[in-house]
Amino acid sequence: MGEMHEWSLAEALVTSLSRYAEREGISRIVEVDVAYGELMELDTEIFEQAFASMVKGTPLEGSKLVLREEEAKFICNSCGHVWDFKEAERQVDSGGPRIVEDGGGLESPLHLMPGLATALIRCPACGSRDFTLERGGDLRVERVVVER
Ligand SMILES: [Zn+2]
Repeated sequence: MGEMHEWSLAEALVTSLSRYAEREGISRIVEVDVAYGELMELDTEIFEQAFASMVKGTPLEGSKLVLREEEAKFICNSCGHVWDFKEAERQVDSGGPRIVEDGGGLESPLHLMPGLATALIRCPACGSRDFTLERGGDLRVERVVVER
């Protein structure tokens, strides 16, 4: 996905938290706890750099950023079966399309293109393609520590 992914996510986070602080009359945010879905393949180092450079001059300046990876969870809309990314990955490994690299090696498409994952996944219990990605595909603020 490249660095743009991390920068635009960090910008969205800093912008929404700055607005939140302004609205609530909070002078300083000292800590932000963020959960990110494993399907995002977030580069935490780039994300932290982007965050640190964007918080200057905002109520978030000097705040501590805590990142936690969140496991993906799929729910079948047909039979209600719940499964995780590891199970989805095994399923794709055993029957999904393969991508052959120049050297002739084989890679699971899930590792190369996480965005493709949902197109390849079926419910392991009933085979339906009608499922919901309950979590693991987005960024979520779990907690902010503030000073008024
Ligand atoms: Zn199912």
